[in-house]
Amino acid sequence: MRLNYDAVVIGAGISGLTSALLMARRGKRTAVLEARGNILPLMRGFARKGAHFETGFHYASNLEEGGFGPYIFAKLGLDLKPFPLPREGYDEIRLLPTGRVFKMVCGADGLQKKLAESFPQESAAINAYLEKTAAAAAKSAYLNMQNGGEDFDTIIDSPPALQEVLDAHFKSPELKAILSVNSFLHGTPPEKISFAQHCCITCGLYKSAWGIEGGGRAINAAYGAALKNAGVDIFLNGEAVAITREGGQKIIILKDGRQFACDACIAAVHPKIFLRLAPPEVYREGYKTRLLDLRETPGFFALYGVLNKETFFETVNIFAVRDLDVNKIFGGGGKSYYINFSRSRPQAVSIISLVPSDSWQRGPDYKTKKAAFALEIKKDIQTLFPQIADNIEYLDASTPATMRAYCGYGGGYGLMHDVNKTKILPITKIPGLYLTGQSVIAPGFLGALITSLAVDRVVK
Ligand SMILES: Cc1cc2nc3c(=O)[nH]c(=O)nc-3n(C[C@H](O)[C@H](O)[C@H](O)COP(=O)(O)OP(=O)(O)OC[C@H]3O[C@@H](n4cnc5c(N)ncnc54)[C@H](O)[C@@H]3O)c2cc1C
Repeated sequence: MRLNYDAVVIGAGISGLTSALLMARRGKRTAVLEARGNILPLMRGFARKGAHFETGFHYASNLEEGGFGPYIFAKLGLDLKPFPLPREGYDEIRLLPTGRVFKMVCGADGLQKKLAESFPQESAAINAYLEKTAAAAAKSAYLNMQNGGEDFDTIIDSPPALQEVLDAHFKSPELKAILSVNSFLHGTPPEKISFAQHCCITCGLYKSAWGIEGGGRAINAAYGAALKNAGVDIFLNGEAVAITREGGQKIIILKDGRQFACDACIAAVHPKIFLRLAPPEVYREGYKTRLLDLRETPGFFALYGVLNKETFFETVNIFAVRDLDVNKIFGGGGKSYYINFSRSRPQAVSIISLVPSDSWQRGPDYKTKKAAFALEIKKDIQTLFPQIADNIEYLDASTPATMRAYCGYGGGYGLMHDVNKTKILPITKIPGLYLTGQSVIAPGFLGALITSLAVDRVVK
């Protein structure tokens, strides 16, 4: 059986669904093919014991009224309601080697003042640095697309690296750690991420930090409704195994033998999965080799628990780092944590530790190894955060193998955006065949939206 569409999107993650809505907006008959049994398998989250756990979205920047997020939500017909996180303490940063605890504040003046109080000898440099971050974000053609910016040749992944800029401004390793720990949110270490990319994805938080009412569940519902309204057909359990060509048409073949023919095919999957699907002539050999050489962002080992009903933490995110050199925690040795608290009662708590993306293969010793690692983390949490440990009921754990089962790859944010390596482009050598997703232009919820919007500009 072969079905015909104007546009076919492979992958129903946030990038794929955004691309599908953009195609439908142009009047194209559009289909989405998703390997798993649901749309948004990474972002939808899950519920246990009356609590909802987020798996692919906790918070983001640029969701203020008039900002990039609401602009694109309106454009796509998505009914999503951002809410502001506390302006004081949306992130609590714990530097374990020195014991310093720093609570981030929103607003350039407030942040400048608080950082300068903690590091008075670096006050002038803090000022200069914060100005530089604001200027870099303001310059981003992507975040400012609604103002006409749309050029692919932007400098988003060009030098300098974040670490270089931090080293040029500051002496204090503690200060550098505080200003780079948010690299957790794009998955690329400070010495590899470009300063521009870091500013684009994370420095908007210095202005304001946002959740979305209902989190992943609401994102899932909003996309579901918008796709229905737009008349996009969704094929679940539809794993693509090959893309071939017949004349100008792209033919997508599914594992169960179904076929889809289209003029425009947008693959919204991990680039290495895309290479397995696409015809060999999709890229030059040298480019393919460089792409295969790109490193995966770290994977996550996560523990999920609920707090007893009386316990409630206002802090929404805690970053607890074992090394003042944030680059070192990206090695995945564990023992540095990102802890997220929901707003609900009972309160859902996710404790996430970075581990290598290719670790944790399912095999005979998988369950034992997982239980032993979970126990190690629980003991560590008992020491570091007794007020959490004494009130938590642990419910579940996930590893990069869990992530692979849901998304086909184990690195939380896809491929690293490495300032010194090849950039992944959305355009291929095959007319009408495109690549989108978090590895292409920018990662995270915001990055996936930015990327799909940018890719839309090149689709014919
Ligand atoms: C633990 C965690 C926490 C996060 N927290 C945040 C956060 O707080 N804020 C934020 O902004 N970002 C966060 N992110 C990042 C964000 O979730 C991702 O950047 C974003 O969801 C990636 O979307 P995507 O569409 O590019 O990729 P994906 O969601 O991976 O979509 C790819 C889709 O393609 C499907 N697929 C794969 N192969 C095939 C095939 N052969 N055929 C058909 N379908 C296929 C997959 O099943 C998947 O649905 C987090 C990520 C993780 C892992």
